[in-house]
Amino acid sequence: MNRDFAEIRKHLGFGMMRLPMKDGAIDNDAVCAMVDRFLERGFNYFDTAHGYHDGKSEIAVRECLTSRHDRSEYILTDKLTDEYFASEEDIRPLFESQLEACGVDYFDFYLMHAQNAKNFEYFKKCRAYETAFELKKEGKVRHVGLSFHDKAEVLDMMLNEYPEIEIVQIQFNYLDYEDLNVESRKVYEVCRKHGKPVLVMEPVKGGNLVNLPDEAQKALDDLREETGSDCSNAGYALRFAAGFDGMEMILSGMSDMDQMEDNLNIFTECDGDFRPLEEREHEALRKVADIFGSMGSIPCTGCSYCVEENHCPMEISIPSMFRSFNSDLLFGKLDPWMTYEAITSEGHGKASDCIKCGMCENVCPQHLEIRDLLEKVADRFE
Ligand code: SF4
Ligand code: SF4
Repeated sequence: MNRDFAEIRKHLGFGMMRLPMKDGAIDNDAVCAMVDRFLERGFNYFDTAHGYHDGKSEIAVRECLTSRHDRSEYILTDKLTDEYFASEEDIRPLFESQLEACGVDYFDFYLMHAQNAKNFEYFKKCRAYETAFELKKEGKVRHVGLSFHDKAEVLDMMLNEYPEIEIVQIQFNYLDYEDLNVESRKVYEVCRKHGKPVLVMEPVKGGNLVNLPDEAQKALDDLREETGSDCSNAGYALRFAAGFDGMEMILSGMSDMDQMEDNLNIFTECDGDFRPLEEREHEALRKVADIFGSMGSIPCTGCSYCVEENHCPMEISIPSMFRSFNSDLLFGKLDPWMTYEAITSEGHGKASDCIKCGMCENVCPQHLEIRDLLEKVADRFE
């Protein structure tokens, strides 16, 4: 294994895209406590991107991690996102601003962010890959990789074109494993074919695999009773993703200390590593996936790409709407702060205000037909 890859201690990464909030800002005290706890338990991989929390995730990295801990204590990944550069000339200043925001001299991993067939052409036109490889030669990046959201054949094409890519971040969880849009299994198989280590994102599908609908919850409760296990719902999902060969890191966007403790326990319960799923457990997860599939929920991960950077001219709170729709469909109730009135207040558009411009769909990593789905939301709530 590559020296730096070997420096990754344990296979759980702290994704800093859903950080704890207080009074509308990132709660730095809570993040500091989580960072310290994560390191104290022997984990060291942190993941951010310029767009997370509208640029404030990188600053939280500096204030809570890099200014408080020695550089040798952590591995830091950042990403190059298409929204923040218009030409090759923009990339280096952007990169330098990312180093400065994070308070480091180099990134361990620098990923070409959210690659799909369309923005791959844009990255090539702007010589983004070539620039990243140059940064690596200069020692400002240890490893260049990509994070991926498209079909398996597209990844195959990218890795053929840029075999220098060292690592690939993919969406992988038991709901998306055979999903025809996400193609988790096939995408993973392409990584294996090219011999690339894998970073896993969305192992709990934006929290969708934590709070399960009744029938799915019963399937896991029955499993726990039968096997005497006390594994949490998130635990089953994380163990599913981590159990495949070549999975270098499972990223979890942790939002509070309880989630973190649960995740840390899952990844340290068995001789300092996680316990792979048994066949009986795989069977139960397949049942849960079938239940989800039969319910018609919207497979939105809540990433918020569609509403960042003024993507929606009507200011429709798309992820909140889909979350409410799913909550209503799967659980028959809404969170008190997620009522339709709440998410359409303060200048936010209703689902029926959509003017069908399609800007949201251009950036949705899940390739959701958002315009059509908003019609379903309007039918249900208006
Ligand atoms: S298609 Fe509708 S929801 Fe999407 S960006 Fe345009 S107005 Fe907003
Ligand atoms: S609709 Fe797509 S882009 Fe928007 S939050 Fe959901 S998954 Fe992300």
